[in-house]
Amino acid sequence: MTSSPFWSPVVGGLVPYVPGEQPKLANLTKLNTNENPYPPSPKVVAAIQAAAEQGLQLYPDPESVALRGAIARQYGLQPDQVFVANSSDEVLAHAFFALFQQAAPLVLPDVTYSFYQVYCGLYGIPMHVVPLADGLRVDVETLVGPAGSEIAGVVVANPNAPTGIGLPLAQIERLLQMHPQHAVLVDEAYVDFGGESAVGLIARYPNLLVTQTLSKSRSLAGLRVGLACGQRPLIEALERVKNSFNSYPLGRLAQAGALAAFEDQAYFAQTCAAVVHSREGLALQLEDMGFEVLPSQANFVFARHPQRDAAELAAELRKRAVLVRHFKQARIAQYLRISVGTPAQCDSLLQALAQILG
Ligand SMILES: *Cc1c(COP(=O)(O)O)cnc(C)c1O
Repeated sequence: MTSSPFWSPVVGGLVPYVPGEQPKLANLTKLNTNENPYPPSPKVVAAIQAAAEQGLQLYPDPESVALRGAIARQYGLQPDQVFVANSSDEVLAHAFFALFQQAAPLVLPDVTYSFYQVYCGLYGIPMHVVPLADGLRVDVETLVGPAGSEIAGVVVANPNAPTGIGLPLAQIERLLQMHPQHAVLVDEAYVDFGGESAVGLIARYPNLLVTQTLSKSRSLAGLRVGLACGQRPLIEALERVKNSFNSYPLGRLAQAGALAAFEDQAYFAQTCAAVVHSREGLALQLEDMGFEVLPSQANFVFARHPQRDAAELAAELRKRAVLVRHFKQARIAQYLRISVGTPAQCDSLLQALAQILG
């Protein structure tokens, strides 16, 4: 359906985000949505169970004080420099509304997390889309507005998605210095797999907002918790939007689980290291099969085979019960994004590819 007399006028024009498939079938090797292949820490599960047994009839803490305190301690910030919400997608939505809903355009790369353009559509934010440089790299010097005109701000993912390529911290700092009068949003959804976090720059840059998620590196995609860090005026803007939208974005189970996840740093470090180790092995083996693999600092690799069509490869893999992500988008249509699985899942993928490639 493309319209109905019951719809608000804006709804027919929305272009919603299309998430990767969440199949109902069991026994698939699911490497299409960048979930962590390892379950969350047992301490997280125990904390959620304990929370389920006490007080679910009551609303949760609307300010998530305990969780924000734990995140602040972890990152050397004040609790009031931390914002949390029901997924980093929701954090991003609030940030776009709070910071970028202006007459001047938001600057963003052409190949990046596709939800950014969806939020711009939702909120009527004009965009200035900048092509990635050679090698599908972000060149921060190009992240500027049209010559001589104002901008609303800049958004980058670091490491970028779906390329996996990370920017050194000096480049993020350069970007912040290029735009002292504008908010720069750095989406660090994948930073824990080997990227350099900009959280340490917050004290010196009032224009910096960093977002992160517990969905990837903390194995909690099913719990839906995301966060933002920044100086107080940016965080207050997010709080004003959140409290005009949903005062209780995180339920009791989510707050308890997320808190326990931030308290179990040993488990987090161990599972991140295992993913990084598998990623390096996977990249080498894909290269042995003739793939070109971009250098990844994330929990996925972005690869293309010079002789084989990517959409066909994805379809052939699916027939063999292996799911990977393919984007029908200019410039990246010949790439596959493959989430890093357990060693056994990586083996299933490589065996299926060996069969397909013959
Ligand atoms: C996965 C992802 C998110 C969203 O994370 P959620 O907290 O699960 O909503 C945000 N940004 C990027 C770049 C991502 O890949």
